[in-house]
Amino acid sequence: MSARHKTTGQVREERAGRRIAAPKSICVTGGAGFLGSHLCARLIGEGHRVTCIDNFHTGRPANVAALARSNRFELVEHDVLDALPDQLPSFDEIYNLACPASPVHYQSDPVRTALICAEGAANVLYRADRDGARVMHASTSEVYGDPEVHPQREDYCGNVNTVGPRSCYDEGKRFAETLITDFARQTGVVVKIVRIFNTYGPRMQPDDGRVVSNFILQALRGEDITVYGEGQQTRSFCYVDDLIEGFVRLMASGPEVEGPVNIGNPAEISVGELARIVIEMTGSTSRIVHKPLPVDDPRRRRPDITRASSLLGWMPRVPLAEGLAKTIRYFARLDTSPSASIQSQPGVAPVPRSQAAVSI
Ligand code: NAD
Ligand code: UDP
Repeated sequence: MSARHKTTGQVREERAGRRIAAPKSICVTGGAGFLGSHLCARLIGEGHRVTCIDNFHTGRPANVAALARSNRFELVEHDVLDALPDQLPSFDEIYNLACPASPVHYQSDPVRTALICAEGAANVLYRADRDGARVMHASTSEVYGDPEVHPQREDYCGNVNTVGPRSCYDEGKRFAETLITDFARQTGVVVKIVRIFNTYGPRMQPDDGRVVSNFILQALRGEDITVYGEGQQTRSFCYVDDLIEGFVRLMASGPEVEGPVNIGNPAEISVGELARIVIEMTGSTSRIVHKPLPVDDPRRRRPDITRASSLLGWMPRVPLAEGLAKTIRYFARLDTSPSASIQSQPGVAPVPRSQAAVSI
């Protein structure tokens, strides 16, 4: 194929030195959310046809507005609690990301969260079976709960409260892993499970209460930085581009890659230290204040990424300082007026629905 017949995405891929895969029909549920929008952009950039399914509960059409210019991209307003619409094209691959992800959002309607984990996954699996598609499911480091083993390897079974405020999500995601694995065993559908550790970057929602977005916005506004508890709890933060690279490699992996795979950046940091770094990088006058530690907040979290590195050749590339700088630039350009105000407690207002999406 001559250069003038190549899509922009293919040319960009070649310049980036990546192999161009044959174009596929790919579905991304939750594609208008933070991670989903980056994944859709990556897949469109590789020349694939992408159907983004979202009900805009926590995602926004604006996150994928730039992709709508491509005739290979379709945005469909749909709730994964219902079967995937028959009218959609047949899929080669389905990435299942649809689920509220921040504690503020998933605790605002916990019954619905648990059902989305279970029934959303089931609807994706039924569709994959019908189409002969492979599935990559977004699981989470929350399946390890408040871990007694550190760092967390995939064979650690976790320490999770079944009836706490985080259980709708933690146990929902654990059940989804079980359902997906058993479905694959019974039907032969190819499934991949990624356990995502805390990820940050542009297009995080300003209102979802996650620590990176909260701290950056508070610092940019000169507001108090709300550290929960003493700030000694740790997390390991992965920049979004690194995570998406892991998604794509996992989806393309062969049968030797069975079972869940951790994707995250093992560089562990305390929440208090993160607050200090954000204040320094933004040159903010904000001061740190301490608020109560949420119930069941995990004390530490760090992925063991031996499986991802040995099976997928994947390693995170973006250091925290570089990723934070990009994320701070993104939030600095956003409207941070009160209408975009951040929340640090449950009970968030629903995001307005799109006029831009196709309703099926
Ligand atoms: P997000 O809230 O930005 O994205 C979730 C998307 O799913 C949103 O666009 C939302 O509108 C959509 N959605 C929710 N319920 C839906 C439904 N019933 N039907 C259709 N669409 C629905 O969150 P995110 O950070 O992009 O997370 C994406 C996935 O990754 C989630 O499954 C989450 O559990 C998982 N995950 C994320 C992180 C992280 O650090 N970002 C960590 C662990 C796991
Ligand atoms: N956190 C905090 N201040 C905030 C928001 C979060 O100290 O304004 C803490 C929270 O208690 C947790 C960590 O930061 O210990 C990460 O929280 P987040 O909600 O981002 O992710 P998760 O708890 O799901 O890992």
